[in-house]
Amino acid sequence: MTEVFEAKYGLPQDVKYCKACVISNQRPSSVIEFKNKPSDKKPTINFDDDGVCSACRYADVKKSIDWNAREKNLIELCDKYRSRDGSYDCIVPGSGGKDSAFTAHVLKYKYGMNPLTVTWSPHVYTDIGWRNFRSWIDSGLDNILYSPNGKLHRLLTRLAFENLVHPFQPFIIGQRLVGPRFSMLYNIPLVFYGENQAEYGNNITENESPKMDMSFFYNSSMDVCDLYLGGVSATNLIDKYNVNINDLNPYMPLDVEKLKSVGTEVHYLGYYLKWDPQECFYYAAENTGFITNPERTEGSYSKYSSIDDKIDPLHYFTTYIKFGIGRATYDASQEIRNGKINREEGAALVKRFDSEFPSKYFHEILDYMDITEEQFWKIIDAARSPHLWKKENDEWMLRHALWNE
Ligand SMILES: [Zn+2]
Repeated sequence: MTEVFEAKYGLPQDVKYCKACVISNQRPSSVIEFKNKPSDKKPTINFDDDGVCSACRYADVKKSIDWNAREKNLIELCDKYRSRDGSYDCIVPGSGGKDSAFTAHVLKYKYGMNPLTVTWSPHVYTDIGWRNFRSWIDSGLDNILYSPNGKLHRLLTRLAFENLVHPFQPFIIGQRLVGPRFSMLYNIPLVFYGENQAEYGNNITENESPKMDMSFFYNSSMDVCDLYLGGVSATNLIDKYNVNINDLNPYMPLDVEKLKSVGTEVHYLGYYLKWDPQECFYYAAENTGFITNPERTEGSYSKYSSIDDKIDPLHYFTTYIKFGIGRATYDASQEIRNGKINREEGAALVKRFDSEFPSKYFHEILDYMDITEEQFWKIIDAARSPHLWKKENDEWMLRHALWNE
């Protein structure tokens, strides 16, 4: 009998890799919750009977979609909302990375909309991220840069790392909310996000709808006491960490009545236009002055995705620790599905880069989170699920690496 090792986070016991791309069945569906507790189990990506992941299956579906008809739908939607008096007619949340750069620019300069772009600030801008953000605005777009309370956001980021080993969690919540929040504040009902994350293996039925499920943004039955941020209840944040209840507002679900009175709708541009990250990059390079990193991103081989925040590489390192899935795996899987590389090439890139430790901004991010290197490694090693990791000769190794398949 083979030994059974504990699987943390409710992950599937048997590690399997998709037959078409390089993602494993350990990939969590990025369900964002206002009540993320450390003990929560995570739903994971679906594999079908042929061992192919739902994201690869959707990549096949995309090939048969009538994109001309979808573009017509987009034009109808724009016609319905387009402003005639110079006021803003849609909100485009984003950082000025390739995807939001493409979304806002194409809506304004191809489809004649008048977007207001809104940005939930990265934790710590990289030089290149700040430069791309400025170039995006300079390409002819209005922007509101929203920077959350720095003291609180640092605390929440640290707690999210300590309790969830997910330093990005408070950022993701804030960033997700910022579009609909400004829709309410400025009375602009239409909000455009770029791609639907379902393309990467969340609940695949979400791809069939152009609109985001709004129930995420409000929860009428929810009291502030039910909120969990960084794995800590709001009550504890207030009592133990001296957080002012009002300061939690940017992370709170939105007022459902207000959302309904404005008529806020969140649409994915990726539903209407065939989404290809590399094509977004080419478009942004040509039209919004987007430039790539001169060097490849740590933990991967790519140079143009998620390069604006110094905490990004650490985020992907934590997914490598928790799920055995690093940044090269995410990048290669996406590029395989979009026909840029084949599975063999992808596997070689994963082997070469996935485990690379992000040292470039490491100490800066430790300072940001106010934790020591010793604490960091204690948290990281405790987060390794025994069914994924083993220690041999004092070295941590994946039990089921892709290249050993
Ligand atoms: Zn796949």
